[in-house]
Amino acid sequence: MRVHVVGSSGSFAGPESAASSYLLEHEDADGRLWRVLMDLGSGAFGPLQKLVDPADLDAVIISHLHPDHYLDLTGLEVFWAYHERTDLGQLPIHGPAPLAERLAAVLSREGQIPDGVDCSPFEYHVLSDRRCFSIGPFEIETRAVTHPVEAYGFRIAAGGATLAYSGDTDACDALDELALGADLFLCEAGYIEGRDDRFTGVHLTGRRAGQAAARARVGHLALTHIPAWTDPEVPLAEARAVHDGPITVVRPMDILHVTP
Ligand SMILES: [Zn+2]
Ligand SMILES: [Zn+2]
Repeated sequence: MRVHVVGSSGSFAGPESAASSYLLEHEDADGRLWRVLMDLGSGAFGPLQKLVDPADLDAVIISHLHPDHYLDLTGLEVFWAYHERTDLGQLPIHGPAPLAERLAAVLSREGQIPDGVDCSPFEYHVLSDRRCFSIGPFEIETRAVTHPVEAYGFRIAAGGATLAYSGDTDACDALDELALGADLFLCEAGYIEGRDDRFTGVHLTGRRAGQAAARARVGHLALTHIPAWTDPEVPLAEARAVHDGPITVVRPMDILHVTP
């Protein structure tokens, strides 16, 4: 399984990166390449097009309905609804229940059908806690995590390797369960110790991400969702102080290979 980092900036798009978005790729046993997009936050639809023709996406999974994780679905919807290809069908979108309504509101529209077309370009699937489903060779498990809105982390297996994605969360048992023994733990570190101590139940610090990685004994910890106003070296050092395994900070256009 490969993870292409489309955007990794925390909470808002930064000067060097769009907000959260990751393109997952894996070939099935017949050699067919499957592409699943995980989150599509503010600013991410532009750089996504450097990596893939969006018409080749198989599905999208959205962790939660903060703009830095779903807002650029507005661009993908326009792309899909009005594309010159007429064989695209509906694109499956897995996300929290209010997603369709929220997207319509952002697009100043009632209902799911854009002007001038016959049906919704998206086929919505509602996520809930501990849901397991497959998209091609990807086996996906959801866990509700700790954030001010309904939010999910994902545990995704393909080809014998496991990716755990925190979404946005503070430390919680569900995060530890998601990450348990994962080959790659793509984990947010939106906060840093000291500066952000007044907030609880929102984001991890580098230290809390490192502690979760240590408890779960992950293969590789990849820190993400670091906002533009934070020096990435700070959460990286926090994580290294509490976790001995390999740790990196992801950047846009990185390719992470998830292997057992
Ligand atoms: Zn976020
Ligand atoms: Zn959030």
